[in-house]
Amino acid sequence: MNHVVRGSTRVAAIIGDPVAHSRSPAIHNAAFAALDLDWVFVAFPVRAGDGERAVRATTALGLAGLNVTMPHKADAARACDEVSPRAAALQSVNTVVNRDGVLYGDSTDGEGFVRALREEGCEPSGRSCAVLGAGGAARAIVEALGAAGARVSVVARRQEAAEAAAALAPGAGATTFDHALPVLATVDVVVNATPVGMRGEPPPFDPRVLDAAQFVLDTIYHPAETPLLAAARARGIPCANGLGMLVHQAALAFELWTGKSAPLEVMRGAARAETS
Ligand code: NAP
Repeated sequence: MNHVVRGSTRVAAIIGDPVAHSRSPAIHNAAFAALDLDWVFVAFPVRAGDGERAVRATTALGLAGLNVTMPHKADAARACDEVSPRAAALQSVNTVVNRDGVLYGDSTDGEGFVRALREEGCEPSGRSCAVLGAGGAARAIVEALGAAGARVSVVARRQEAAEAAAALAPGAGATTFDHALPVLATVDVVVNATPVGMRGEPPPFDPRVLDAAQFVLDTIYHPAETPLLAAARARGIPCANGLGMLVHQAALAFELWTGKSAPLEVMRGAARAETS
């Protein structure tokens, strides 16, 4: 980074635990440099339980904004003065904007996911989509797919968690992996929003049922190809990993903080360099 940090430099940051592995500093510092902005992005390790205090400190320290990752997204939603409708529905904030001392919170993961899907040529409106998992990423994706006009089915380990996630999208269904074969065999789009595959594990269902699917997106981006994606590719099903979602959620946060159009390809290049 050639940027000289001065007293006037604006600071944005990510808080999380762990946070040392985060790609966000590389992505955002590349974007600030590309637009010649006197901004810098740093990572603050913040322990579980300290999330609300850390978010509230944004105004005292004059930070421009925050990205928020595990385990602080719910705390951030509580700490903000105002939140977007989608952040309110999810009770989760991954982007905080300091608007002259008023903390505004949003959740950009779901919209980032939908933009990534569209970028791959897969329009979710009117399509049936199975979302695997019912955690933070899955819930954001379910909400965004519902808002984009998709018919959503949530498949998770626990029925009650699947139902809670399904409540975020109009008319969404919920089931467990044990009963998911009829769903997985008939949906147009399959989205993995579980960590399964990060260590090379096979998906928790037989990937041969994917023959009807028109697109498979795995939110994992490291490794670049999970066993689920390898199975989809072997069957000739168009597919993508989570890099596009990572880049688009970051671009949406960048635009909220700076009010400028995000340099998407610069951010993609930085994300790719960090994940390879
Ligand atoms: P999370 O809140 O901990 O949720 C994880 C979900 O996966 C839960 O529903 C969990 O079920 C389920 N799960 C865990 N292990 C499983 C297994 N062996 N079999 C079946 N289901 C399993 O985590 P998250 O924040 O949603 O993140 C999930 C994944 O999304 C991450 O690993 C990451 O790769 C990806 N992600 C990508 C992006 C991106 O920008 N590309 C952004 C965020 C997340 P239980 O509740 O039953 O444990």
